[in-house]
Amino acid sequence: MYVRRSFDEPSVHPEDVGVLEAEVTFSLMESSSQRGKRKLVSSNGFTYVHKRFNPTKQTTIWRCSVRNKKSTCPAIVVQCGHSFVSNECDHSHQAKPGIDKGLVITTKVNAESDKNMFESAGSIVEKILREEADDRLPEASRPDYTNLLRNCNRRRQRPKDPTDMDFELDMAFINEKISSSFFRAEVRNGERRHLIFATDQQLQLLKKAKTWYIDGTFKVVRQRFYQLLSIHSFVRSGDDMKQLPLLFAVMAGKTSEDYTQVIVLPLQFVPLRIFTYA
Ligand SMILES: [Zn+2]
Repeated sequence: MYVRRSFDEPSVHPEDVGVLEAEVTFSLMESSSQRGKRKLVSSNGFTYVHKRFNPTKQTTIWRCSVRNKKSTCPAIVVQCGHSFVSNECDHSHQAKPGIDKGLVITTKVNAESDKNMFESAGSIVEKILREEADDRLPEASRPDYTNLLRNCNRRRQRPKDPTDMDFELDMAFINEKISSSFFRAEVRNGERRHLIFATDQQLQLLKKAKTWYIDGTFKVVRQRFYQLLSIHSFVRSGDDMKQLPLLFAVMAGKTSEDYTQVIVLPLQFVPLRIFTYA
């Protein structure tokens, strides 16, 4: 990346362009803002948002992100390919040295939050801070910890828990955020519904297993559902042997009929479909 000292964008007069320090560099940040817009950040402490793209000249205009009721900073940067030209001297406010590192941290926390739906916000934020934070850098390099946690949680909003059994599964959420092969089948027994989950790999292991161990836990499921039933088996890897859960059933009932239906179904290793028992 380098700084070009002239450009042909007509909306900025060449005389407005200040002479930049050679070490000033620009980086593009993907989706660092809440609305998923790209940001441009300079190594001397300014951030810019996309203003417009000129398809004829193939130039992108970035305007300073300081713009509110009190202050509208007129500084802009013109991007042409990998080169950037700025009129930095026109900023109407102080620079925030270190903001480039601060944005890297925010962007990484956001990306990690999107990938790891079920990891705690605290552990995601801690992990990124361990990797990226540098105490020797100025204050703007350290985003507010509480804000990072809040952003992280906001990005991982999950569908609302159903209040009765008349609900539709949010398959887009399950496929996108968990795995497209995790939801296996739904068993309906009158009013009651049981949802069965297992990955392809888990089903393969279950198929090979000589013995299945069946367990039920109750506190982890929300009301209207009764329990999380899991089928475990011993899995060997080299000299190690471990009991692993290989199938999960979120069950709305506990009659012998409910159990039979839920346990018989994986025996058939059926693909995604709905079974209804009268
Ligand atoms: Zn500015």
